[in-house]
Amino acid sequence: MIPLNRKTQISKLAEYIANEFSDRNLTLLNEVADLEDVHVHFDNYEDAFDGLLLYDTKSSDFHIHINVDNGNMQNSKRGRFTLAHELGHFFLDEHRLGLKYGLLEPHASFYNINQKSLIEQEADYFASCLLMPRDKFRNYSVECRKLTGNRKFSFDTLLGLSESFQTSVLSTLIRFGEVGTHEIFAVISKDNIAKWFVKSPDFPNWKFKFKIGDTIPQTTVAGEYYTMESRKFTGIESLSADDWFNPPQDDNRAYRQMYEQCFYSDRYGYIVSLIWFD
Ligand SMILES: [Zn+2]
Repeated sequence: MIPLNRKTQISKLAEYIANEFSDRNLTLLNEVADLEDVHVHFDNYEDAFDGLLLYDTKSSDFHIHINVDNGNMQNSKRGRFTLAHELGHFFLDEHRLGLKYGLLEPHASFYNINQKSLIEQEADYFASCLLMPRDKFRNYSVECRKLTGNRKFSFDTLLGLSESFQTSVLSTLIRFGEVGTHEIFAVISKDNIAKWFVKSPDFPNWKFKFKIGDTIPQTTVAGEYYTMESRKFTGIESLSADDWFNPPQDDNRAYRQMYEQCFYSDRYGYIVSLIWFD
């Protein structure tokens, strides 16, 4: 976990850069790299890494290598996140100076959701703030609901943000859980196993009816997908809080209307179960 004051420091820096180099909601990563004389190379590196920042002691130059073999195409959502992550290693003094003076080994960065070291978490957080600056992200959360004519919150809000900011569904979800305009809870599962979750700070802290690393509740939309005949139900479903949670009986919030909507990633084989209240 990144300490709160460090998070504030990282987001201030990343959002300052994002606001200087943007075209509406799109952060112009290549312009950021150009201005700092960081050389960016999109190339084939097999499965060695997603991204890598190197310091060339002879020319005193920094180079970012982005691996297209892992799906990090230039201007793709994944490629943009990887580039933004490497820019984080460059812009965060402790990372860049550590590399320059040999205190930190050059390290391969991987685009995944597994447990990461603190410097990887910091670079991911920098990338998230650089690509999705708080105020723009919150403003567009409201705006895109008007644009789609669907004023109510749903998964469409996240998909609209993901398109406008050119960020993956998962990175958009994580950012929404942190600074979004609606309280959410989401479980990411694969092969009927709950892998991890995202929770807004103001979503109730109820006990789960499932465990991370275990199967997900059968009565939920994703649970039915896994246990029935793999029918993808993408609509908005009404359900009750105790399908997913064990809310305390004296908590009135448990009696509010709760919704669930699933997003299925064909490419990576995961399901996001998004849960929210009216
Ligand atoms: Zn990294």
